[in-house]
Amino acid sequence: MLHPDDTDLLATPLDQLMAAASRVRDSRTGTRITYSPKVFIPLTFLCNDTCDYCTFAQPPARVAEPYLSPEQVRAIARAGARAGCHEALFTLGERPELRYQIARDWLADHGHTSTVDYLAAMCRMVVEETGLLPHANGGALTLDELGQLRRVSVSQGMMIESIRNDLACHRNAPDKDPARRFATLEAAGELQIPFTTGLLVGIGDERQDRLDGLRAIAASHERHGHVQEVIIQNFLPKLLTGMRNAAACPPDEFLWTIAAARLVLPPSIHLQAPPNLSDDFGVLLDAGIDDWGGVSPVTADHVNPERPWPDLDLLRDVTEERGFTLAPRLTAYPEFLDDTLAGPERWVDPALRFAVLDRSDAEALARDDPGSQFPEKVHGTTETADGADVVIVGDRSTQWYSGWNADPPTLVPATSGPIRGAVAEVLAGFEAGSDLGIDEMVTLFEARGREVAAVAEAADRLRQETVGDRVTWVHNRNINYTNVCTFKCKFCGFAKGKISLNVRGTPYLLTIEDIQQRVREAWELGATEVTLQGGIHPSFDGNYYVDVCHAVKDAVPEMHVHAFTALEVHEGARRLDEPLESYLLRLQDAGLRSLPGTAAEILDEGPRSILCPDKITTEEWLEVHETAHRIGLRSNVTIMAGSIERPIHWARHIERTRVVQRRTGGFTEFVPLPFVHMASPIYLQRSARRGPTFRETLLLHAVGRLAYRGLIDNIQASWVKIGVPGVRQLLQAGVNDLGGTLMDENISRAAGALHGQKMTEESFGSLVAPLGRTLARRTTLYDVAPEPVG
Ligand code: SF4
Repeated sequence: MLHPDDTDLLATPLDQLMAAASRVRDSRTGTRITYSPKVFIPLTFLCNDTCDYCTFAQPPARVAEPYLSPEQVRAIARAGARAGCHEALFTLGERPELRYQIARDWLADHGHTSTVDYLAAMCRMVVEETGLLPHANGGALTLDELGQLRRVSVSQGMMIESIRNDLACHRNAPDKDPARRFATLEAAGELQIPFTTGLLVGIGDERQDRLDGLRAIAASHERHGHVQEVIIQNFLPKLLTGMRNAAACPPDEFLWTIAAARLVLPPSIHLQAPPNLSDDFGVLLDAGIDDWGGVSPVTADHVNPERPWPDLDLLRDVTEERGFTLAPRLTAYPEFLDDTLAGPERWVDPALRFAVLDRSDAEALARDDPGSQFPEKVHGTTETADGADVVIVGDRSTQWYSGWNADPPTLVPATSGPIRGAVAEVLAGFEAGSDLGIDEMVTLFEARGREVAAVAEAADRLRQETVGDRVTWVHNRNINYTNVCTFKCKFCGFAKGKISLNVRGTPYLLTIEDIQQRVREAWELGATEVTLQGGIHPSFDGNYYVDVCHAVKDAVPEMHVHAFTALEVHEGARRLDEPLESYLLRLQDAGLRSLPGTAAEILDEGPRSILCPDKITTEEWLEVHETAHRIGLRSNVTIMAGSIERPIHWARHIERTRVVQRRTGGFTEFVPLPFVHMASPIYLQRSARRGPTFRETLLLHAVGRLAYRGLIDNIQASWVKIGVPGVRQLLQAGVNDLGGTLMDENISRAAGALHGQKMTEESFGSLVAPLGRTLARRTTLYDVAPEPVG
């Protein structure tokens, strides 16, 4: 059927068509090209159909068993998870039980009513045991079958192949009837399944047929919004098939179809072409694709076994040569998964929600730290005085996580080549003097590949201009005076209260004498600061905090008192029914000099209302700090990143604190605090991610450096959460401060962090030495520290 625009598409020279398609792609996805690291699970090679181009389907005589056994499926999936895959792609013939007795017998012997029933069982097993996200390619299915798979498979797929119902290659393939396949696509839409479909080019149809097929796909998508991607695949003749002597799809025909698809389909549908079916696959980018599809480091392309997947490094090189960045994605695209803060899930069954979260980064793309990821199976707790207490059994992940002692990937220094696109434009504007707005910060938080190194380099230059090469640290001691808390922050593994899963030892409350003893010990060891913070004990009134300040100063008059989160201050004033300013003045008179920026978490009511609904609000946190600054106290800005929030929330957090800083100048430093997931209640309750990836961690510090230009000079890295190798990279991405020695740091440890409780001047020195930077001890307020007395 001729559409008004078809004449143009059919008449436009290929190079112009490709250029127009590329422009559409660029406006939708910018420089980002995605791929899905997957393992291919060929559940059965038997098939009800015989397509003339297919080498996948085999007769029973050619297969050892009609179906892969659960043990074989498990072994393939585990190998995939170990190799860093995120997706388990189940590929199989269509309803072999209709054609083969042996298939019917095998299913009956194994307690399954159909191939789809067995497929559903294997999807469930794989996601539960390995955490890989299933993508089921079950063929032309009914609404009920699609619904059964929806409960265990994050996304599903089925190629339309062609809208023509008279193709010779399909004469023995009843399931390739376009009417049946479009009915499946429509049913998937009704069930709100993120769905993959596509065309096979070169099997006998014409350009006009493909345009008609694409428009029919687009129409279904317009009704339901469910088509996440369209694959344009080129036919290649294979030995031992009916089409072995047919001509391969001509490259120009393939490129024309890709470009036409980009122009016909709504921009919200991603466009994919497989990289292993073209010798020069970089040209597919020029035709308008934004996704390479599934690429497996462990299994062959079982549909095209003679065409191995390109090595991932080659895929990256080809992608970057054309000015793009490569990002791993999950089996469903972010726009179908971005429901963290919204309820009830529209696109993914609630039973799969945590499996998706567990592999997601802050953009709902796949976590991109190298290494394996397995579900964490917590097997009780151990009773220790300190340290991580959850006991994890089974396959162990090898990826980097905040608080975990695996080394991070090396992101800086990196060979940074030229970059283009939005990140390049934001950095150019910044160098020319424009400050980063919220949108610009989000763009930089989403940097990938070479863009990450470019952001880090800009931050490193600004660090050098602002504070030079000195790397500072403060000799301090953390005193967490109680772990009893009446609040119910869902991320907090430290507090003992109803919401806490009690993964730590028994509740405690230090006496005033205990605190004084610790202060004296700290002074004797050379500390110039004590950091006091703890839970909100039900027995405290606001005078407790005043008494603590007096007690510290009585014990060691010279000690800097860095104490009390905005929550403690707010709660203290509230319990005394005293105005904030007058209460802060009394704390100041008692010796308080600065406030830690903790209890900020995320200064945005969306994620905040989930993470800590009964805690002070964003506005209250800001009010406490602004009031403190007004009376001469100093404080810092922290941000907790990597649980449920998105880059937009990080950007808003920075912007809100910048507004206060412009008025007061009272913030001394910015301290990103990566969420440590291991023993955090919200993670154990299967409702959070595994903290930020290392790329996100690095960008939080680098973008923070850039965003606070002229406002906050010091960017601090938390060695407790990030570890020494990670911090060394952050020092090349805008960071100039290592924070404190933190004897007895219990709060990160309570969430499962393993990076120790104490650093020394020597250990800070060996951290900094390879960078050729100088180490300098500072006071809390960034003056040169006096000589230690201890
Ligand atoms: S984060 Fe602080 S306020 Fe929240 S539960 Fe933990 S100790 Fe209590």
